Amino acid sequence: ADELLQQAEKLTVVGQLAAGIAHEIRNPLTAIKGFTQLLESSTENRYIRVILQELDNIENIVSDLLVLAKPQVTQTEKTDIIYLLNRTITLLNAQAIMKNIEIVTDYEVEFLEIECEPDQLKQVFINIIKNALEAMENKGKKIYIKQRFIREDRILIRIIDEGVGIPQERLEKIGEPFYSTKEKGTGLGLMICQKIIQSHRGTMKIKSVLQKGTTVDITLPTILSAEDENIKEFE
Ligand code: ADP
Ligand code: MG
Repeated sequence: ADELLQQAEKLTVVGQLAAGIAHEIRNPLTAIKGFTQLLESSTENRYIRVILQELDNIENIVSDLLVLAKPQVTQTEKTDIIYLLNRTITLLNAQAIMKNIEIVTDYEVEFLEIECEPDQLKQVFINIIKNALEAMENKGKKIYIKQRFIREDRILIRIIDEGVGIPQERLEKIGEPFYSTKEKGTGLGLMICQKIIQSHRGTMKIKSVLQKGTTVDITLPTILSAEDENIKEFE
C-alpha cells in the first residue's frame, strides 16, 4: 500500500509538471501555427507543410499532457459502464470498419452502474481500443471487449486484440512516458490510463504474446468507498 501511495504521489508530481509545461508550450505553438498557415497560403514552399505536420505532432503531445495533468477523480457519478463502453465503441467504429476490424462485445450484464468519472474512463477505453486498432493490419481481425464480475463489488473489463503484440522486454516499459513505437505516437496514452485507473482505485495489467495479440485487464470497484483488500485474482 505504501508503494501504491508513493506511485500515486509520483504521478501527481508528474501531472503538475506536465500541466506547467503543456500550458507554456501551447501559447507559442498556437501563434507559430497561425503564422505558418498564413505563410502557406501566400508562398509556394514545400517545407511549410513539413513545419505544419511537426506542429501537429507537438499539438498532440501537448493535449495528451493536459489530459495527464487533469486532477484526480474530482466529481464522480453513478454511470452505466456498459453504455459508456458501447458509446466509446461507436466513436471508434468508423476507424475499425476502415481497417476491416470487428469489435465484439461480451458483457455479463446489460446495465451496470459504477461510481466513476465517466469522461476519464471514456478516455481510458479510447486509448486502449485505439492501441488495439493500431496494432492490427487490415486482415479481418477482431477486438473483444468483455465485462465480468470478479467480486460482488468489483468488475473486470478485458480488452483483447489480435495484433502484433508487445515484446516482453518492452512490456516492462509500458506506461513510462514517451515510450512509443509509432511514428505519430506520443507514448502517453497508457500512462494516462494507468493514472486514471489508479485514481479510481482500480488496477490495469497487460499481457501480450508476439504476433498473437495483447490483452488489457482493468479492474474497477463499483463503489469507490468500498474496501479493496482481498481482491480475488482473475484469470
Ligand atoms: P502511443 O500509442 O502514442 O505510442 P501508448 O502509451 O498508447 O502510446 O502506447 C505505448 C506503446 O505501447 C505503443 O507505441 C506500442 O508500441 C505499445 N502498445 C500499446 N498497446 C499495444 C497493443 N494493443 N498492441 C501492441 N502494442 C501496443
Ligand atoms: Mg496509444
